[in-house]
Amino acid sequence: MHARAVRPEAFENPKKTPVSRHSGDFFAVPHATFEILPSAMPTAANIRDDVLANPGFGRYFSDHMAHVRWTADAGWHGHEVRPYGPLTLDPAAAVLHYGQEIFEGIKAYRHADGSVWSFRPEKNAERFRRSARRLALPELSDEDFVGSLKALLAQDQAWVPTPRNEADESSLYLRPFMIASEKFLGVRPAHEVDYYVIASPAGAYFKGGIAPVSIWLSSHYKRAAPGGTGFAKCGGNYAASLAAQKEAEKHGCSQVAFLDAAENKWIEELGGMNLFFVYKDGRLVTPRLTDTILEGVTRDSVLTLGRDEGFIPEERAISIDEWRDGVASGEITEVFACGTAAVITPVGQLISEDDTIQMPDAGNEIAKRLRGKLLDLQYGRAEDKHGWLTRLV
Ligand SMILES: *Cc1c(COP(=O)(O)O)cnc(C)c1O
Repeated sequence: MHARAVRPEAFENPKKTPVSRHSGDFFAVPHATFEILPSAMPTAANIRDDVLANPGFGRYFSDHMAHVRWTADAGWHGHEVRPYGPLTLDPAAAVLHYGQEIFEGIKAYRHADGSVWSFRPEKNAERFRRSARRLALPELSDEDFVGSLKALLAQDQAWVPTPRNEADESSLYLRPFMIASEKFLGVRPAHEVDYYVIASPAGAYFKGGIAPVSIWLSSHYKRAAPGGTGFAKCGGNYAASLAAQKEAEKHGCSQVAFLDAAENKWIEELGGMNLFFVYKDGRLVTPRLTDTILEGVTRDSVLTLGRDEGFIPEERAISIDEWRDGVASGEITEVFACGTAAVITPVGQLISEDDTIQMPDAGNEIAKRLRGKLLDLQYGRAEDKHGWLTRLV
């Protein structure tokens, strides 16, 4: 079911009245102004509340979307927040044929005083520019990136769920993305590009909460290769991971772990999350960044929070043999995956064609502790001593 499948009589605001809380019809951000085109038929409050009570993940969308257009001649222009709805794309649009696309994932959290915040959005903005460079797309300025989130949230802040208690991890998931929209079948970087932000209320990513997950180790498929696009957040990487994901599901696993393409030996990451290994002696090891690993904002935050908590963070190559032997000897006590959507999720077992690495059933206390620290910061329950929060509304 779609959130906008509402009865006409349920519309709150049938006329095209400006509903912006900001002065006039424009929402100003440094260097750009987003024109506000309010939805003529926003979702009724009671229907929205039903959605927010049980949003799931990625199924419902708010009433508006932010949009900025780019052309080779004019650069970035036409900043606007307009009603959410289908895009009109020419069937020859380059993105549909050659996959010239990038995206981001970031959340808006409601704090106890009603204010709405995002977590380190400047890191996402910077990564978005890195991804753009790799996919030969134009770079969006950090001001426009963060500005687009603020402009959209000014309009759709009612879509940010209010957590019922500390265990309630609901938020508004924001999905900025950029597509090559030029009508042209030749192979070259597009001269016309569109950037959008859509917003989707989200509950906990995994229905099982923080129950340990089973991971499939793909022995055949690779996510990324040296010189490729592994470090960029692009749809193509995800498209390439789906066959392995299908294989995982066949083996009762929810996610795939990938090894490096060159030696089939070094642990890289999951399809959409980074990995951490907790050692008995207090080391917190994560694969060091290469161009085949996506630099997660959560990964970086866990390294810092881990150090704050007295762990010894290490970024280095870690092999599948070290994982297997470390668990067998008791040196590795926990493994967890991390990313914006699912925060921190303990790994229960790693299943492959040949064997299974069974993690100890010891409560995953460190994963839970770091997870709690991160959530406390994001929801404004702990002091933001690293200056990681940016107010959106
Ligand atoms: C988005 C993503 C992550 C996690 O990044 P966060 O910034 O922590 O959300 C990890 N790996 C891949 C492949 C990703 O696309």
